[in-house]
Amino acid sequence: MASIRSGISLGRARCFYPQVFKSARVMKKAVAYLTPFIEQERQSEQRSKAHILLATVKGDVHDIGKNIVKVVLQCNNYQVTDLGVMVPAEEILRQAEALQVDMIGLSGLITPSLEQMVEIASAMEQRQWSRPLLIGGATTSALHTAIKIAPRYRGAVVHVKDASRCVGVVSALLSEDRRDHFLAELRESYRRLADDYQRRQSHAVLLPLAQARLRAAVPEWLTSPPPPAPRFLGLQVLNNYPLSDLVPWIDWTPFFHTWGIPGRFPALLDDAKHGAEARKLFDDAQKQLQQLVATRRLRAHAVFRIVVAQRQGDEDIALFADASCQEKLGTVHTLRQQDVASGQPCRALADWIAPPESSCGDHLGLFVVTAGDGLEQLLAECDREHDDYQAILFKALADRLAEAFAEHLHQRVRQQFWGYAPAEQLSQEEVVRERYQGIRPAPGYPACPDHTEKDLIFDLLSAQHHTGVGLTESRAMYPAASVCGYYFAHPQARYFRVGPIGSDQLEDYAQRKNITVAEAQRWLATNP
Ligand code: SAH
Repeated sequence: MASIRSGISLGRARCFYPQVFKSARVMKKAVAYLTPFIEQERQSEQRSKAHILLATVKGDVHDIGKNIVKVVLQCNNYQVTDLGVMVPAEEILRQAEALQVDMIGLSGLITPSLEQMVEIASAMEQRQWSRPLLIGGATTSALHTAIKIAPRYRGAVVHVKDASRCVGVVSALLSEDRRDHFLAELRESYRRLADDYQRRQSHAVLLPLAQARLRAAVPEWLTSPPPPAPRFLGLQVLNNYPLSDLVPWIDWTPFFHTWGIPGRFPALLDDAKHGAEARKLFDDAQKQLQQLVATRRLRAHAVFRIVVAQRQGDEDIALFADASCQEKLGTVHTLRQQDVASGQPCRALADWIAPPESSCGDHLGLFVVTAGDGLEQLLAECDREHDDYQAILFKALADRLAEAFAEHLHQRVRQQFWGYAPAEQLSQEEVVRERYQGIRPAPGYPACPDHTEKDLIFDLLSAQHHTGVGLTESRAMYPAASVCGYYFAHPQARYFRVGPIGSDQLEDYAQRKNITVAEAQRWLATNP
């Protein structure tokens, strides 16, 4: 499985972010004290530093990477205005104009945000601006920037792969000597990416949907039947779940990646180069975690439900309230791979749900978990204290706790609530490596890339009511430290990537969902 849910991979960072943050904390407190005096001085001075506007685009809420960029830039003496999260395009443009900023940096985690970025680039072109546009965040890529965003704007559009590169990019863009060379190289690399992409596209052969269906990954239901029925059908709510039960399930590796420390946990604690810094960070995280557990200022909630499910046609899953299948609750729409190598199955998640003609009763689980209740207040306090380090720690830990909750709840579902694997004996590490039976794919991720499929999950669980988690218009969950998804229990179920689909499937999908083809295309317009 290639994808990691959250956490911004910073690759091989050139600086240690924890250190940057700690020095920033001292500096910011000092600056907060000195600001009134400095402002007086400034009145008579010319503005000398570049001013950079940062924003997470409309419909998107994740901002850990962007906050890291902010602090790194501030530590390098740039002035940064951060507009926060869910910022509409008009607001970003208005502020850029009003503040006369030198550059704009946009961030986004989920795929619909890519379209927002294209819109903003087009609006900048319309206004005939020349200020550079920086693009960052987990869902963005150099390729998407090259073929979708850069062609919309004559000014510089730079994909910033991770926070460790932002200072290099910004200083190159501002440097009289280096700018032309930097931009020429950038344009050349974008041209190469776009050419390669065009070449791949012209060679790509997608299997017609009808043929892909013949290669579905459907199990032999007679010899490989669905797991037994759950002990209990119906909604289950777990409020104020003890954080202490979640802590052991934390997967620490992505936590360190967020901070620019590469490698796998726990080996990275002993790494010759990064070990010492990693240990300090880990100590700070442990302290904060203990505090969170003790004070209960961060609260975790979950809601889940296992329902009767039947495959309907080839890619739909019909959900019912009980085994009589009288009361239909809704339909999950899945997508099938069309570009896999010959000899390989063309998978769709629906393959692992039994159709009625198999005479097998089958089930599907739906869940939402969060560990973000209370985070806002904690962050507000950090803000008052000018403490970015603690703020990012809180956010990163809340994210980790949400993922840990998803893992822990999944195990309880397998062993207890659904109970299809009551005797599962796996070590913690084996669980984190997902060696168990069944999967919990999340809408918006490669096996089910359409974020709008979250709507049914949230409806059937009354998730907002029970957990406080909401969906933005782009279907990002807020608080951001939340996870939702399905439980597929069949032993053959596995993660995969739908990848590119043909217009035949797009039309079929739009029809099944009762939306226009254009709308379906918009929601599925992922990274090329
Ligand atoms: N231990 C990791 C877990 C997150 S990554 C962490 O703490 O960050 C794994 C999760 O991402 C899976 O449980 C699943 O919910 C989702 N996921 C991964 N690959 C997926 C795919 N191909 N399709 C759908 N969801 C996927």
